[in-house]
Amino acid sequence: MSNESRAEVLARLPLRDDLRGRTPYGAPQLDVPVRLNTNENSYDVPAEVAAAIVEAVRQEAGHLNRYPDREFTQLREDLANYLGHDLEADQIWAANGSNEVLQQLLQAFGGPGRTVLGFAPSYSMHPIITVGTGATWVDGKRGRAGQATDDPNQFDLHVAETVEQIERVKPAVTFLCSPNNPTGTALDLDVVKAAYDATDGIVIVDEAYTEFARTGTASALTLLPGRERLVVSRTMSKAFALAGARVGYLAADPAVTDAIRLVRLPYHLSSLTQAAARAALWHSDVLLDTVEAIKRDRDRIVTSVRELGLNPAPSDANFVLFGGLADEKALWRSLLSRGVLIRDVGLPGFLRVSAGTPEETTIFLDALADSLLDAPVTV
Ligand SMILES: *Cc1c(COP(=O)(O)O)cnc(C)c1O
Repeated sequence: MSNESRAEVLARLPLRDDLRGRTPYGAPQLDVPVRLNTNENSYDVPAEVAAAIVEAVRQEAGHLNRYPDREFTQLREDLANYLGHDLEADQIWAANGSNEVLQQLLQAFGGPGRTVLGFAPSYSMHPIITVGTGATWVDGKRGRAGQATDDPNQFDLHVAETVEQIERVKPAVTFLCSPNNPTGTALDLDVVKAAYDATDGIVIVDEAYTEFARTGTASALTLLPGRERLVVSRTMSKAFALAGARVGYLAADPAVTDAIRLVRLPYHLSSLTQAAARAALWHSDVLLDTVEAIKRDRDRIVTSVRELGLNPAPSDANFVLFGGLADEKALWRSLLSRGVLIRDVGLPGFLRVSAGTPEETTIFLDALADSLLDAPVTV
């Protein structure tokens, strides 16, 4: 190898101009005792579900000489059953994680010369996928003009502000995220309806965390009838504790899935993935058993963090964003030195932590209290 740095070689490669200077997705994957930084489900897959997945995969193994069902028909039927709301299999699409679902949507409906709008702070992959597929990203704003930085509702999206931004930007695709990552905020369905009416583009509601929402929080699935440009995306990575299997899906008008068929790679969902996902769905009751426990630890984090003098955002997800930090990077390092990995989402004064098992949550809260005693990191 020469002494030349990788960055120097990269600068010389004939990379697309619009990718120069970009940063890849990079949540640290560190081997520490308590990992609460990527909103995974901290609970292992229960033994009976793991056994069912192994059996389903075993049955496929002898037939791996053949391509998988390109239309993953049975999986779509199982997903439609799980979702309810009278959804039919031809309204469902799945891929290797909802990230791939979103990428396929952006390949079909975004692309060069088109603009995509999201409301920051939101999921960091929405702009990365947008730019990767050649469209232009526009960062919209949450909250209301003049809201105080310690207002717990500063990350809400409101009808008038949402409509104004959509009408101004005229996006081909609008991202809504409910509950929103990293703020935890769920959306009022009035905002989704108004956003839809304000555009003739696609509106994607990313509901990756919907299973953790507090009671009374409605899903945008209820809005699908009569709205052919509305897409609701979901994942098995969070509540289903299946992040490693890479299964995400969407519900929409059947014509949306026809649009995706124009860009998807044939056989993108392997037979093993389809079998594993179906076996997991047959046990969705057992898998979703952990959701209530996770919600309790989420609520415990909100209460405890507030008692420590910090400022948590209300959360409908399996994580909590908390503010009031004078130096979030110092606190992040201090927690890491105590074996606890949480997330710096690039929002000055804030950090995000996933709700873990009760033991992990307690270790985090103790480490947080110790860190705050050691160094005055609150404002
Ligand atoms: C974690 C997350 C996803 C899930 O991505 P997968 O590719 O399904 O693992 C999607 N959207 C948001 C907002 C997320 O936080």
